[in-house]
Amino acid sequence: LFTGPIAFVKSAPTMDDLPPANLPEVAFAGRSNVGKSSLLNALTARKGLARTSNTPGRTQLLNIFDVGEPAVLRLVDMPGYGYAEAPKKMVDAWKRAVFDYLRGRANLKRVLLLIDSRRGIGKVDEDVMDMLDSAAVSYQIVLTKTDKVKESWVAKLREDLPALLKRHPASFPSLLATSSEKNHGIEDLRAAVLGAAKD
Ligand code: GDP
Repeated sequence: LFTGPIAFVKSAPTMDDLPPANLPEVAFAGRSNVGKSSLLNALTARKGLARTSNTPGRTQLLNIFDVGEPAVLRLVDMPGYGYAEAPKKMVDAWKRAVFDYLRGRANLKRVLLLIDSRRGIGKVDEDVMDMLDSAAVSYQIVLTKTDKVKESWVAKLREDLPALLKRHPASFPSLLATSSEKNHGIEDLRAAVLGAAKD
């Protein structure tokens, strides 16, 4: 499915600009530079589906892609968060737009929350997890860039996870470990997206 037709639908600045809620949606979120664009490109076996960008947070848009022909599910690329220089006004705007989307989107099946393997889950990620919990949107942690760390480090992150997730009622108990660079974990990610869409 993911290597077949995928159409860019639009960039939506607000909830009101989204397409009708007629397909199951799976959204991708993470700190800017977490490797979200690279992972979306690996997921869909395309080079330029999601634009990798060096100017984080420049635009606060939900980028929407329909998968399949006819479309059977939708991928939503959420704006990156947590870059240090973001003015407070922008952070507030991000929170408002994202929370509106999370709370108001009935067809949103799951959020995949991307975490850079080297950094682990930080304070800013936990803030987003709190937001997901209060919006009651199911989410799963996806480690990115595992090629940059030792396997024992990934194992440790995996071990530490249950204690952390206990505090987060909407979280999904298992962890996906991926490397877009090495194409690791991409089949598991595809299965997770498909499974979520069917929930
Ligand atoms: P985004 O801002 O979250 O969309 O992140 P990008 O996909 O633009 O990636 C940010 C940086 O991390 C870029 O320099 C990528 O080349 C690098 N990167 C992304 N994924 C991987 C990966 O799996 N392994 C390694 N080593 N680098 C990666």
